[in-house]
Amino acid sequence: MLKERLNYPPTGEDKGMNMERNAFELFAKRNNKVRIRVMQGHFVTQHSHVNYCVDLTRMKTEAPLARAAAKLFAESFSGVAVDTIITLDHMKMVGAFLAEEFSHSSGINMKQEIAVISPEFTKDEKLILRDNLVPYVKNRHVLILSATATTGIAAMGAIRGIRYYDGDPVGVATVFGGNFEIPGVVVKQLIGIEDLPAYKSYRPGECPLCKQGQKIDALINAYGYSKI
Ligand SMILES: [Zn+2]
Repeated sequence: MLKERLNYPPTGEDKGMNMERNAFELFAKRNNKVRIRVMQGHFVTQHSHVNYCVDLTRMKTEAPLARAAAKLFAESFSGVAVDTIITLDHMKMVGAFLAEEFSHSSGINMKQEIAVISPEFTKDEKLILRDNLVPYVKNRHVLILSATATTGIAAMGAIRGIRYYDGDPVGVATVFGGNFEIPGVVVKQLIGIEDLPAYKSYRPGECPLCKQGQKIDALINAYGYSKI
């Protein structure tokens, strides 16, 4: 497993109080500059409780890292024709670099003008497109780009939305993801869930950390995390 401790060992005086102190990084195997930060603890996401916070802040905000990630995705999908990239989880900068990488590559998308859009979601998480964005999906090959996709449930939701608008979902590109399969769709991740084998996700009512009375460290959503 490719990982490296940051600020390790912890001093112990505020162990559990400062989750960043125990952070470590996971690297993409093909380029160790492509990295994500991981922190252990007890976290609440929209649908689940998890024992690791997977933090992609740098990749989403720092151009060199976003570009490096995009390059790896372009290699992974070099044989998949793409017209439009739909970015989820605030991955639009990576999506823009990916569109550039595709058009400058020697793959099937060479010299193609690829659109990048970020859809809206309803309260019950259905993907919706305003009328001005529909032409970028209807009868187009659409690649979904997400930050994390551990179960495939969110990816399937996006695929259903793309099909609703008569688009053709051709791939799911995710930075940190599980090994799920979707028939007819190419699924690739840069860093696999197997690189963090202790990662666990629980339904809120079934979380053993809650049952043990372990304090919740932070709330997580696509914007980041808020310690509590
Ligand atoms: Zn819990």
